[in-house]
Amino acid sequence: MGILTKVKVAVARRKLNSMDIIGTDSLEKLIHSRFLADFKKSQELRDMVGKDSLDEITAEDVNTYQLYKFRESMRYAMENSHYYKKKYEAAGITPDDIKTMADISKVPFTDPDDLAENSMAFCAVSQGKVMRAFTTSGTTGNRKRVFFTQNDVLNIVDSIAAAVKSVGMTKDDALQVMFPAVSAWDPGLMMDSACKLAGLNSLVSSTADVDEQIKNMKDNKTTYLIGLTSFIYRITMLAKDKYDLRSIGVKTIICSAEPLPEIMRKQMIEAWGCPVLAQYGMTEMGLATAIECAAYDGMHTSGAYFFVEAVDPVTGESKGYGESGELIWTSLVMEGTPLIRYRSRDISQILPAPCNCGCFSTVRRVAKIQGRLDAQTKIGYGQKIFPALFDEVLLAVPGVLSYKLTLTHEGYKDKLNFVLEYKGDEEEGHRQVEAALMSLDEIKDALDNDLIEIPEVSFIEAGSIEFVPKSKAIVDLRENYDVSST
Ligand SMILES: [Zn+2]
Repeated sequence: MGILTKVKVAVARRKLNSMDIIGTDSLEKLIHSRFLADFKKSQELRDMVGKDSLDEITAEDVNTYQLYKFRESMRYAMENSHYYKKKYEAAGITPDDIKTMADISKVPFTDPDDLAENSMAFCAVSQGKVMRAFTTSGTTGNRKRVFFTQNDVLNIVDSIAAAVKSVGMTKDDALQVMFPAVSAWDPGLMMDSACKLAGLNSLVSSTADVDEQIKNMKDNKTTYLIGLTSFIYRITMLAKDKYDLRSIGVKTIICSAEPLPEIMRKQMIEAWGCPVLAQYGMTEMGLATAIECAAYDGMHTSGAYFFVEAVDPVTGESKGYGESGELIWTSLVMEGTPLIRYRSRDISQILPAPCNCGCFSTVRRVAKIQGRLDAQTKIGYGQKIFPALFDEVLLAVPGVLSYKLTLTHEGYKDKLNFVLEYKGDEEEGHRQVEAALMSLDEIKDALDNDLIEIPEVSFIEAGSIEFVPKSKAIVDLRENYDVSST
């Protein structure tokens, strides 16, 4: 580390709110510290909360704080971003119209396609103030570009540091960051720099080579893993017969950037003998938006930085606590690219405070991600199919590592072709995979009504193909098929 970098790191560290915060309630403490700072500064916030002091912070108070921050963020976006100025003027809406939580539903959504089409119109600062620009991988179509200022980067570092501390990580631990190396998509590097800046030990290990991953864990005395869900799962399944994974000393595994099917979780817990947690991070929001705790009772959200709601993806109507809908995110402090009511296409539920763990009792949570709207398609006469449906039954078959489903059409029938990455006796594999598919009503009903052909199943040897991050589990080659309709 050069002298200049050292000075910069020292300066940056002084600005971090998370440095002195420790313990499994770190995330809640961080949110409360931001709340208290704003409470001291703003008469408007004190009036809204209706208290003179915040000796005890309730869930109700945090909701009020989020409403206050939502309005502030909306005001900032309207004043500084061309996109929002135009959008809200056209809709005839101002931040003053948002007086209650229910009023938030009056604010129009922000579509990710708009951001992809014209990222510059969203940017709310001059380019000179941009410290970091991120281009998202974008599984479909255009790439989105988001801009972060120095304050944004520090807030992201705070969120990440508080999140890993909230799952028990301390300065004595070592985090292995396991995202496969991909250009233009480097959450791993961001995660690693954040940990280092926050004074935590981390190591980027992006190799797909199983032996090298295990060697890195042993050499660095790794105690925490974070990475792409399917990547960590794959390493686990390929390593578990060769190494005694339980003896390595991993305390917690954090699965990120993709949903975590329960069957994957179960198999990883068995292999490593430690909790396996889901984490939700959106690049557009600065990665660290929500993380599960060992109580497996939903994900703790970084509530001082983000506001999250669930809505009906078709009508846009708000969903109540515990009702499934599309997650809608609002950045509450972002300066570079503020995003208000941003559609995520991810399906989940909002859960009320408190969490069962006892470490997160005043901030609303998000349930584990159930799937993505654009990963969903239909077969037969409209049976909805989506990766999560097959994940639970196919990955439960011993020896199955991953699968790809290709959909084609012949005459009036849909054809389903499954290719599975598999290790074991092929005949037994066929028997079990076919039984697993027939256990799904979606497949059985379509077959009973003669609307699909009997699914074809073939195997390729486990470990023989290259790992492709975020590859689509369902590939639809049917023409003129309206995938977007739900
Ligand atoms: Zn919890």
